[in-house]
Amino acid sequence: MKSKILFASFLFLFAFSCNEEEAGNAPLLNSCLSQKSAGNCVDADVPYCTYGFKFGDNNPFSPNGPNVAGPGSAAKLISFKFMDEGLVLKTPYQNYAETVQITEEERASIRQYISEWSSVANINFIEKASNDATNVSIGKAFIPLEKIGGYGIPQFLDAYCNQVVGLIILQSKHNVTSRVVVHEMGHVLGLGHVGSQNIMNGSPTVDHLQPGDIAGIQSIYGSK
Ligand SMILES: [Zn+2]
Repeated sequence: MKSKILFASFLFLFAFSCNEEEAGNAPLLNSCLSQKSAGNCVDADVPYCTYGFKFGDNNPFSPNGPNVAGPGSAAKLISFKFMDEGLVLKTPYQNYAETVQITEEERASIRQYISEWSSVANINFIEKASNDATNVSIGKAFIPLEKIGGYGIPQFLDAYCNQVVGLIILQSKHNVTSRVVVHEMGHVLGLGHVGSQNIMNGSPTVDHLQPGDIAGIQSIYGSK
């Protein structure tokens, strides 16, 4: 099971046996997951799985889950930023994380990768400065868990979970790839893991959006 998990997901909670102090802040994530049964996305062999959380109207929404269509309502403009280096933060996966620099080349790649989602669904991104408040914050930090490429947190609503909504952390010891960035942004936008070969597979073998991913994101936000 562990070897199958290459990307951050809620399933990683089960892998937190190594070093609790460094690796996990599971109570926070468990609390978030209890909302709307968002944890029901557990690698079912379906095209997509919706968490029940989205940007814009109809957040949260139900029903949600494996192969359950979302409301098809447009997202408001989604702001994002790249986090400065040297920021210290607590996340659902780490009690201590410190961001490192994201190079200009990496930023250009990331902008292109996230546009895969906005090119097919009724989503628009706008980039803001690193000191602005934004819907999505993209950082890069060392994640002290093997085989994790990154993680992304959807639009949970309650105050406790608000501490981490929209957060994407990319593993600093790996190169920035479309596979990881597209996947983690998929979580932030409201898609969970599936067992089918889409970018939202828990261990994807593809680098770009697949038909299941597109069907899923369009079910939540509508098509472009
Ligand atoms: Zn994942």
